[in-house]
Amino acid sequence: MAKLKFYGGTEEVGNVRITLDYNGKTLCLDYGSKQDHEDDDQAFPRSDYVVVSHAHLDHVGNLPLSLKLNPGTKYIGTDMTKRITEYQLNDILKINERRKKEGVPDRNPPGRQFSLDDILAIKDGWLPADYNNTTRVGDFDVKLVNAGHIPGSAMTEVTCGTDKIVYTGDVNLEGNLQKELPGLNLLQKNPKALIIESTYGGEMRDSIDKQEQTFIRYVEEAISKGKNVFVPAFAIERMQRVGSLLSRIRNDHSDYEFYMVSPSYLKMKDMAYRDIALANLTESAGLPNEYKGRKSVIVSTSGFCTGGISSKILREVIENKNYTIIVPSGFLPGNSPLKSAVDTGYAEFSNKGGAKVKKKLRAELKQVKLSAHSDKSGLVKIVETVCPNKTTQIYLVHGEPSSQATLTQELVSRGYQVRIPKKYEEFSV
Ligand SMILES: [Zn+2]
Ligand SMILES: [Zn+2]
Repeated sequence: MAKLKFYGGTEEVGNVRITLDYNGKTLCLDYGSKQDHEDDDQAFPRSDYVVVSHAHLDHVGNLPLSLKLNPGTKYIGTDMTKRITEYQLNDILKINERRKKEGVPDRNPPGRQFSLDDILAIKDGWLPADYNNTTRVGDFDVKLVNAGHIPGSAMTEVTCGTDKIVYTGDVNLEGNLQKELPGLNLLQKNPKALIIESTYGGEMRDSIDKQEQTFIRYVEEAISKGKNVFVPAFAIERMQRVGSLLSRIRNDHSDYEFYMVSPSYLKMKDMAYRDIALANLTESAGLPNEYKGRKSVIVSTSGFCTGGISSKILREVIENKNYTIIVPSGFLPGNSPLKSAVDTGYAEFSNKGGAKVKKKLRAELKQVKLSAHSDKSGLVKIVETVCPNKTTQIYLVHGEPSSQATLTQELVSRGYQVRIPKKYEEFSV
């Protein structure tokens, strides 16, 4: 009998680490991190294998720690996930080096810091898995199918003996920018357990087409008032989606400059989005000095303005009434200055010495729920498609308690058995 244990991703978005024990070996589903809180040491399990659903940091950020706990760990994920993960971990290293120079402590506490050698060792231990093929590790058969979330993203089907466990990772029923849809029909129906994300389990969203129209309308409205536009966005998927929308209207506004500014965006474009043509946008790794001197629409990372170029821009423009800030995300974490700007009208920034500066939101701020996750109806549809017999035990992860409560109510009313695991809770499958 297999045993499931939840070390993270419980009643929270991201930070996913879920173990499956079977015949003396431990397979971990994702090994993520979370920016705005620190887990204690027991939240990081020793694993023989880690299946990596996709390369967002809330799923891969602590992979080096899994390697430290067991240098022989094998990693299973798509080749695209492997390549983006390598980039993401290198990026953390660079950020930490910069912080060190500035006298700011490493993001990871001592003992969880890592080096280039650790990243190379993860690469060495990685078993690239193609979609729809089965990889056998120990007594586990692991099959990955497309999750439609970001390039390389996968849902995982694990078979131990006669039991099947499916983990959705982050999943988007509407598919990703390349129109890849989740391969629900490639999964065996009625697994013993389905572990499903619940980020937007509490809400119904407009279709992606409608959200895209709303985004374009907000940009057009700002431009018609002669305002500048600032869009903080993620380097993977979101900047590309926003860029493809801006490309459509760019030629109608020759008096504006359209900037896509982010080194990681340029890298991702090269790695995973070569087929997405973004015409007439000015792309660069660093912020061009002249951007303040002219009318501009500027898109930059990071998406939550917790660091990177977008945090600098936000600081400069938040008090400027001539700016419209469009946040292309429905979810904002607690440590994002955008979150406090939305909730309280003020955002807090750190000075180099660590002192805090509070700034009032005077720019116009709009939010568009352009998301790479399924909403409530999408998640219900995934459950109904994969588990038509209603015999499967459903576990909700990767969601705030309120979203999980709403989704649970909906699924229970349809006859499903649903659990919301607590941190460190264990279940026999
Ligand atoms: Zn996630
Ligand atoms: Zn994700």
